[in-house]
Amino acid sequence: MKIGILGGTFDPVHNGHIKVAEAVKTQLDLAKVVFMPAGQPWLKSDSPVSPAQHRAEMVRLAIAGRLGFELSLLEINRPGPSYTVDTIEEFRNKNGDGNELFFILGRDSLSQLPRWKEPSRLIELCRLVAVPRPGSKLPDLKELETLIPGLSSRLVLLDKPEVDVSATQIRKRVAEGLPIRGLVPEPVAVYIKQHKLYVV
Ligand code: ATP
Repeated sequence: MKIGILGGTFDPVHNGHIKVAEAVKTQLDLAKVVFMPAGQPWLKSDSPVSPAQHRAEMVRLAIAGRLGFELSLLEINRPGPSYTVDTIEEFRNKNGDGNELFFILGRDSLSQLPRWKEPSRLIELCRLVAVPRPGSKLPDLKELETLIPGLSSRLVLLDKPEVDVSATQIRKRVAEGLPIRGLVPEPVAVYIKQHKLYVV
């Protein structure tokens, strides 16, 4: 089975994530896309992140009723920082070796790949799918290949979709009392309001 994994902080999950998951699922003919909220995101450890239960619940609401979308609590339930390589390894151990795994990420995250834990081992365990992100240029692939040999043969570069939404923008809008309709699925907007998230 071809399975996509979309890892992220999801603080909050937004329509960019949903559109990316849908587009990659269709373009690569994936059986499903698993949303994997990070427990303790190591790259963002200096900025406060909402409690994992809120972030997971918003993902659950966002994907409810969407066929082929799943939520995994694997990272949230593992103590310590969230390293993708450990997550993919655990996912493989739990789901068997028979699947083809595609880790989905935005181009902004692709350029950070050399800073990730064991990127060479990561690309042995799964393929990477990079999607465009408004404002993010495609990193220098030759340079990335030098740093992570073999990457280019394990990387799928897509040129769609282009969705100009970020969680940072949503948190800022909420803090400023601006509407977020159209940026997040409606139940997520309701949840944010109910739980007074991002209000400073
Ligand atoms: P923040 O603004 O807090 O940094 P974010 O919007 O980037 O958050 P994350 O949960 O950190 O959201 O993103 C998870 C993954 O989804 C990352 O690989 C990121 O690059 C990708 N992603 C998020 N939003 C988009 C988007 N609009 N288009 C393409 N990829 C995206």
